[in-house]
Amino acid sequence: MKNPLLKAVYSPEDFRKRGHRLIDALADHLEDKLHEKSEQTIHWNPPEDELKFWEDFLQTGDEASLFSEITKRTTHVHHPKYIGHQVSPTAPITALSGMISSLLNNGMAVYEMGMAPSAIERLVVDMLCRKIGFHTQSRGFLTSGGTLANLTALLSARKATVTNDVWNEGHSGQLGIMVSEEAHYCVDRAAKIMGLGEQGIIKIPAGKDFSIDTSLLEDYFERAGEKGIRIFAIVGSAPSTATGVYDDLEAISAFAGKHGLWFHVDGAHGGAAIFSEKYKGLLSGVQDSDSVVIDGHKMMMMPTITTALLFKNGKHASTTFSQKADYLLTQTDHEDWYNLGKRTFECTKTMMSIHWFTLLKTYGEGVFDEYLTQLYDRGREFGALVETDPQFELAVKPVSNIVCFRYINDTLDTTTLNKINAQLRQRLLEDGEFYIVQTQLRGKHYLRTTIMNPFTTKVHLESLLEKVKGILGDLAQAGM
Ligand SMILES: *Cc1c(COP(=O)(O)O)cnc(C)c1O
Repeated sequence: MKNPLLKAVYSPEDFRKRGHRLIDALADHLEDKLHEKSEQTIHWNPPEDELKFWEDFLQTGDEASLFSEITKRTTHVHHPKYIGHQVSPTAPITALSGMISSLLNNGMAVYEMGMAPSAIERLVVDMLCRKIGFHTQSRGFLTSGGTLANLTALLSARKATVTNDVWNEGHSGQLGIMVSEEAHYCVDRAAKIMGLGEQGIIKIPAGKDFSIDTSLLEDYFERAGEKGIRIFAIVGSAPSTATGVYDDLEAISAFAGKHGLWFHVDGAHGGAAIFSEKYKGLLSGVQDSDSVVIDGHKMMMMPTITTALLFKNGKHASTTFSQKADYLLTQTDHEDWYNLGKRTFECTKTMMSIHWFTLLKTYGEGVFDEYLTQLYDRGREFGALVETDPQFELAVKPVSNIVCFRYINDTLDTTTLNKINAQLRQRLLEDGEFYIVQTQLRGKHYLRTTIMNPFTTKVHLESLLEKVKGILGDLAQAGM
């Protein structure tokens, strides 16, 4: 090769050297975080400062410190005091499968661009269908995230249930879906993308416990019908993102069955409970759904981004996007499960199935049970801890690993309390020992935690509450 720059880019020896160095550095990082040798989960830096840092780095930074600077300037999900957003502390072995996917870079749209990962994907989705309680004709695929999977499922639902061919001919008449007001915002977004408009999203109020109020379903359905809205699908959250509470899937399923609606379960966060002997009851009714979403990067220890979308009737897995892309895909009569680009929104996607398979092969199915069960146990334990503390109140008794709580004080009104709770979260962020997030529920500001790390113990959670009290003391002293 003449071009020395490209020769350097593709140098196997250079890759080997850098790779060994990086693995060592990442292993050190893991040890540091998991074993709490370093105090911080985040070194907070305002966005403008961060931008400036990288502008300068591009000009004058030391190339040898590139990866270590990136590592330092991120949020450390492997730290037991990371109790924030719902991404897994990745099982380290899946960082290795990620490396294989990145280097081999098979595009996955057609079988011959990813033979092993395509066959493996079939095994993974078949296993998931079996766990859900679907049947042997059930199928699915892996796709890039819960958001895209929910959109794909609703497109499948429309194709399967609406008699006119919206896909090819466009809209005629107002279509609609039913969903809890507590559902993830991406369901709303999917409906808007599909052209349903605001009027096509029938929001069902949640009850006191934040799960969909199923006693209202008939009434809302009837009223939509009177307005000429043809409802074709209903979505159940398993659980909803803000509070971690599961909808009553059995009741939704019965309602959907009665009216011939597609029943979709958004189990992006908690669909993985099918693996938990202790908690799979939360998903009771999922076996009667038409489609289910489960994120691998949330409650299954995998890196972003990998999501399973599963269909009870396997036919629907392959008919959502019937459009011709002849240079890629030949029309076949038999089921060509191995040409994944026909089924997925993506054309090119990563070789994501190997994360699932690597965990299964190396540690067995039981690892998913252990992970989820432990974290849900811990969430409930944290709920009990908060409940017994007069300075705090829960939004709802936790049923999963998501716990929302807030500081309360009888002498202060809601606006003041909201301000204090927002300040608490900001102080925690800037302090950086713990990482937690926040949410608004029914006009009240909550501190929101999701226990994602199997190394987070009751002691960590107690010390989080102590930390919050310490900040409260500081705020009081500063007269805020
Ligand atoms: C996280 C989440 C989503 C979105 O999934 P992504 O993988 O982040 O796109 C959808 N629904 C629920 C219930 C979620 O918790």
